[in-house]
Amino acid sequence: MARKHNFSAGPAFMPLSVIEQIQATLPELGETGQGLMEISHRSKPFEAIRDSAEARLRRLMGIPEGYAVLFLQGGASMQFYMHARNLLAGPDDKADIILTGRWSDNAIKEMRRCGDVAAAWQLSGDLNHVPQPGDALNLRDDARYVHFTSNNTVYGSQFHALPETDKPLVSDMSSDICSRPVDVSRHAIIYAGAQKNLGPSGVTAVIVSPWALEQSSRVDATIPGGLPSMLDYRLMAKKDSMFNTPNTLGIFALEKMLAWIEDGGGVEAMEARNQRKADALYAEIDRSGFWTGCTTVESRSLMNPTWRGPSAALDTTFVAEATAAGLLGLKGHRSVGGLRASIYNACEQSSIEALVSFMQDFERRHG
Ligand SMILES: *Cc1c(COP(=O)(O)O)cnc(C)c1O
Repeated sequence: MARKHNFSAGPAFMPLSVIEQIQATLPELGETGQGLMEISHRSKPFEAIRDSAEARLRRLMGIPEGYAVLFLQGGASMQFYMHARNLLAGPDDKADIILTGRWSDNAIKEMRRCGDVAAAWQLSGDLNHVPQPGDALNLRDDARYVHFTSNNTVYGSQFHALPETDKPLVSDMSSDICSRPVDVSRHAIIYAGAQKNLGPSGVTAVIVSPWALEQSSRVDATIPGGLPSMLDYRLMAKKDSMFNTPNTLGIFALEKMLAWIEDGGGVEAMEARNQRKADALYAEIDRSGFWTGCTTVESRSLMNPTWRGPSAALDTTFVAEATAAGLLGLKGHRSVGGLRASIYNACEQSSIEALVSFMQDFERRHG
């Protein structure tokens, strides 16, 4: 086996130890006589796995009592709609959104199906930063909540402080959940597709505050026939995410990823590890003037550093040569071009060192 250095944006690199634990349970989960994919989601062994995943996420993130923790399907993209469906009861209900790139553009489109949603902040042109503390946000007094994308996977920008508002926050944390401590109590809803920091695709972690659950009841009463079952947070919470068959394999993998994070020292240790990796890569991007970082320094993402070489043609050459050298997934998102290394929690410092030394070698040959 020759596992390469994998900088894929998502689905993304997972620790081999986690993959081996998944592999070992495929023919037989524990001593059940049944494989992981073949066992009922209502069986005791599976319920224990689900409960452990929830308990681990609660411990890791310091999720306050009363908040629901859900493991749903449909990806972050379904949460763009589902969260708004539970919080907004039509055109008289307002929400504000901070537009910082591709994923928030997708979110506003879905949110507008449920209420009056306006951009509180928007960049024109180069999407190279997010609002900084002190920057004015154009928030409406009667907005019920503010949505933002904590880390912009495509552009490589990240919030390093929560948006300045007293409103409940809804955060798409798909690409930086569990990569650093966050104050969950400031949030009405946090959602994250697992395939970046928490395991494989097909399972989405959703954290829902008591206030948000109350909003579900308020909105439910305004919809003929009520909220659709599959889009009702209260129902999903009441049924422990098992109203219908959940992604059992995905939840098992997620539980093992959370165990790996806990064993590694938790989110504080992840933040220190992520900072070390990002610092080493940005230091190389800044070193000689050959490379140019795509985002402003204050908004640089610890998860998805983005940069460019001297020309688009050389970026293409870089990706081809890197791939041949065993460094995968470095092409920038198709909508922005350039280069991107996705270096989520599981990415090792040794992969960063391999990338940095390849970048130096590339500069010597093409600079
Ligand atoms: C990857 C990503 C998404 C899309 O997630 P799906 O699970 O594919 O719907 C949404 N938001 C952010 C920030 C992402 O990184």
